[in-house]
Amino acid sequence: MMKTLLLVDIQKDFLPGGALAVPQGDEVIPVANRMMDQFPLVVALQDWHPPSHKSFASNHTGKNPFDTINLNGIDQILWPDHCVQKTQGAEYTPQLDSHKAEVIFRKGIDPEIDSYSGFYDNGYQKSTGLTSYLKGKKVQEVYILGLAGDFCVYFTAMDAIKEGFQATLIMDGIRSINPEDFNRKVAEFQEKGGQIIQSSEVDENTSSN
Ligand SMILES: [Zn+2]
Repeated sequence: MMKTLLLVDIQKDFLPGGALAVPQGDEVIPVANRMMDQFPLVVALQDWHPPSHKSFASNHTGKNPFDTINLNGIDQILWPDHCVQKTQGAEYTPQLDSHKAEVIFRKGIDPEIDSYSGFYDNGYQKSTGLTSYLKGKKVQEVYILGLAGDFCVYFTAMDAIKEGFQATLIMDGIRSINPEDFNRKVAEFQEKGGQIIQSSEVDENTSSN
């Protein structure tokens, strides 16, 4: 059973001091670093927007961050500008041992549609190629941690199940914009067959393998 660790968006803009900081987001970094040594394959996701991205409130006259609009038929929360391609904010924090990731999948590149999931855009129009990459590596189990729990982690985890992977959230390696929303979404994830675990339990799991 090939296992992969999927690191979601541990980028400067989602960390304290960043443009779209997730509260206590930095607490996921030591967990991520510890977990990377427990998995034979580590894959990282990177939010990677052009400056014209329509998920940014700044690209809509009269709109503010956290307003919701209809963007090409999909409800879209408008965000502060974040993870703009080739800017500091889009980079992984140097505290993260990101060189241990085998590959990086970037998302949110098309200015017309957002992409919370590492597998598909929010309209399921285009695949990022992550599924075929993982299937090519004979991966069956995906363990997920990172930021933000209630958005990119959640959507990535739900898509992992839809794509036929056994999906597990490493709970102490996740922080959310709204922890209550995250708890509701975790319950939904579990109803679909997703598992939750603490990083200490992952150590036991993989060492017995
Ligand atoms: Zn984004």
